[in-house]
Amino acid sequence: MKVRTRFAPSPTGFMHIGNLRTAIFEYLVAKKYNGDFILRIEDTDQERKVEGAIDFIYKTLELCGFKIDEGPNNPKECGPYIQSERKDIYKKYAEELVSKGKAYYCFCSEKELEEMREKAALRKRPFLYDGRCSKLSKEKIAENLANGIPYVIRQKMPKIGTTVIEDLIYGKIKIDNSILDDQILIKSDGFPTYNFANVIDDHLMGITHVIRGKEYLDQTAKYNLLYDSFGWEKPTYIHVAMVLGSDGNKLSKRNGDASFMDLYNEGYLPSAIVNYLVLLGWSPSNNQEVFTMEELINNFDEKRISKSSSSYDVKKLNWFNQKYIKNLPDAEYLKFIRPFLTLDVSDKSEEWVNKLLLIYKDHISYGKEINEVVDIFFKDEIHISDELQEFLNSDEAIPKVISEYRHEISKIEDWNIENIAKVIDIVKEKTGVKGKLLYMPIRIKISGVEHGPELPDEIYLIGKEKVLDRLK
Ligand code: GLU
Repeated sequence: MKVRTRFAPSPTGFMHIGNLRTAIFEYLVAKKYNGDFILRIEDTDQERKVEGAIDFIYKTLELCGFKIDEGPNNPKECGPYIQSERKDIYKKYAEELVSKGKAYYCFCSEKELEEMREKAALRKRPFLYDGRCSKLSKEKIAENLANGIPYVIRQKMPKIGTTVIEDLIYGKIKIDNSILDDQILIKSDGFPTYNFANVIDDHLMGITHVIRGKEYLDQTAKYNLLYDSFGWEKPTYIHVAMVLGSDGNKLSKRNGDASFMDLYNEGYLPSAIVNYLVLLGWSPSNNQEVFTMEELINNFDEKRISKSSSSYDVKKLNWFNQKYIKNLPDAEYLKFIRPFLTLDVSDKSEEWVNKLLLIYKDHISYGKEINEVVDIFFKDEIHISDELQEFLNSDEAIPKVISEYRHEISKIEDWNIENIAKVIDIVKEKTGVKGKLLYMPIRIKISGVEHGPELPDEIYLIGKEKVLDRLK
């Protein structure tokens, strides 16, 4: 049987990193087995729908390097791929269940349901629909339908016994049927619930592996009962634990919550994001950390997905992104980084700007950071902190080094990196100072910071006049 997985987001116009990680796992499982990766849009909750969201999902997945084999924009025979366009299909299957005695019409009003909820609350029990409509006579049902009384269709749960869920990660889980609610399959507006639609779609779309958030794990008992009622084969379930914030709490704005587009707009490379996310909750059998897409496909083993939740850590993401930026060919790097540079370079040559951007290629963690690090090339005056000033005053060799260095720099006629690079050796020879006391004071005087790119590159770009000025 051909392996088929699906990514089934709601069209919210937002790709949470947790969702994206699920998509990555789904994609890798499909491709590892030469299978298909399907996009299905779960828009049964019409209120959450956002214009343009489908194109946005396509774009995001494409940026990440995932090819969607079937979906709303490239449909094949299993379409439509948007749940709101499949309403009639769900209705038909719900009615089939009714005729099999596995589901029933429920005409309870909001008021009746509210009373049931209150009763349950009084007894401190979770609310379970009491099944009263499952006992209605055929005649009563026909009468209600004829009178146009609004209804929902509910799944009829067994009241005794247990239902077993088999999950690739969590193993066998037994759920007591007595806690299962006669859940709604078709709502009064004719739309299916997620709980119904996902089963129908996964079956009709030939999905072999269902990979989704762990929050759906217990619910799977209900889905299994649906599969059994229809006599359908169940897919392999792979439930994945949550991605938490760095503080161990649910991801929120405070602990680093981010969407793919937020990160992309900050200057994170999609390949780095994918590489980072795949290791959140999955680990290879060796210690490899950096993977090409091909390596991921070949190495991914769904059985090694972790049972426990993982923490989103921007520092680690920065580490990956820096590696990926560093590995870009220069021309590609320049294309990537240039739009992030927002400082005014109108009076600089293209060569100067490119050189500037290139000397930071090995240093920056994300695109927008470029403005912070190149700041020293644009300021008229640099600020030296008290602590660094103290260092400059700490040894009498330092003023000598600086004035000698300034003197040698002033003598350069042909302003190029090679000539600038020679100066440090001349100063070393003349003053007899080496190591930290030689390099550090010059760097501090020129840039105001202790670390940076290669000193001659930096000096070359700042320009002779400004350098002499700063070394005064
Ligand atoms: N629409 C659901 C979600 O975004 C999909 C869950 C599933 O993959 O079945 O959480």
